[in-house]
Amino acid sequence: MTNRPNLSRGRGYLAIPGPSVMPEAVLQAMHRAAPNIYEGEVVEMMPSIIHDLKRVARTEHYATIYIGNGHAAWEAALSNVVAPGDCVLVPVTGRFGHGFGDVATGLGADVQVLDFGKSSPMDLEVIAQALAEDKDHRIKAVLAVHVDTSSSVLNDIKGVRDVLDAAGHPALLMVDCIASLGCDRFEMDAWGVDVMITASQKGLMVPPGICFVFFNARAQAVREAMPRVSRYWDWTPRSKATEFWQYFNGTGPTHHIYGLRAALDMINDEGIEQVWARHTVLARAIWAACDAWGEGGDLRMNITDPAFRSTAVTALRLKGNDGTLLRDWTERELGVTLGIGLGMAEPDDPARNAFFRLGHMGHVNGQMIMGLLGSMQAGLSSLGIPHGRGALEAAAEVIAGH
Ligand SMILES: *Cc1c(COP(=O)(O)O)cnc(C)c1O
Repeated sequence: MTNRPNLSRGRGYLAIPGPSVMPEAVLQAMHRAAPNIYEGEVVEMMPSIIHDLKRVARTEHYATIYIGNGHAAWEAALSNVVAPGDCVLVPVTGRFGHGFGDVATGLGADVQVLDFGKSSPMDLEVIAQALAEDKDHRIKAVLAVHVDTSSSVLNDIKGVRDVLDAAGHPALLMVDCIASLGCDRFEMDAWGVDVMITASQKGLMVPPGICFVFFNARAQAVREAMPRVSRYWDWTPRSKATEFWQYFNGTGPTHHIYGLRAALDMINDEGIEQVWARHTVLARAIWAACDAWGEGGDLRMNITDPAFRSTAVTALRLKGNDGTLLRDWTERELGVTLGIGLGMAEPDDPARNAFFRLGHMGHVNGQMIMGLLGSMQAGLSSLGIPHGRGALEAAAEVIAGH
């Protein structure tokens, strides 16, 4: 045992739910000298980037890019349509729903939260009731999170649109797709979404640093009726840009643009329907393994009903400190980094050590997922954490039969 080798050298897998694994093609595209921002390649790339972003979002309307992370996308979107004193309705299914609402609070909005807890999807009937009670149509927007990355719940966004329509309520439907775009099926126009936001570092496979706001004509009409919108966040000049600087209200994120071009090429080559289908099969393999482990131990998926599980991220819990022990073990011994539990317990609460998450978004394939599951199997065994048998076989069966 004195010479027990460490098995973590080799290519790692950062299996946290963002930032996600970056493809070589993205990294190589970014590895270059500073390009001229006044003419040439990076300038000429912009129309095709906007075109392909809209294709991934499944919208014919407007796409804008901001330098910033997901929090910036929240601020950007809300700044265009929510003025101080405006009322917004926020159905919350995890930490990020609260985050979206907090940004609205920061902008002076009157925020009405419907909290569905940490392990359940939105209840559309409760949303319908809140809309029915809003007889004067004070609610200006519903802020929904498609996949809440903390709980890994997948919400029924089309269902929220149907509820708005059934109530004859004019509120905008604004959706956070930061975790889900390029992973879980999302159809902006077909589902009647007015504003959608996302960021570069999850399903889009590009480093953190740029984010995106998509909007339609209904949202633009609301924007035009705003008393004022700060210049930097205003989406109007960005969405009509003809010169390079106008897309970004200043110097563009040159290297991110090259990386994004490469990532969009990869998504186009595979086809967005295939991208979704790949995520679905890989997620089902993970769920099958988790079900098998759970048969003989404490491992549980946070979302019980598979219809409401994201295919990009899986939130899990064990018992005691076992979540943290397993994360430490797989990273130290095998080079696979699992995600921390987020929002399930307060940071100073020891209960947080039971929770962890798996990120399986973007640039992931079958061997990475089988490696991830095999590493967890080894960790559970090595640490003596009770677990059911047959998890890897169950995952392999899903992949074999897909
Ligand atoms: C990651 C994430 C965010 C926050 O993005 P940052 O880039 O960390 O600001 C917000 N919403 C969801 C659903 C996310 O997954």
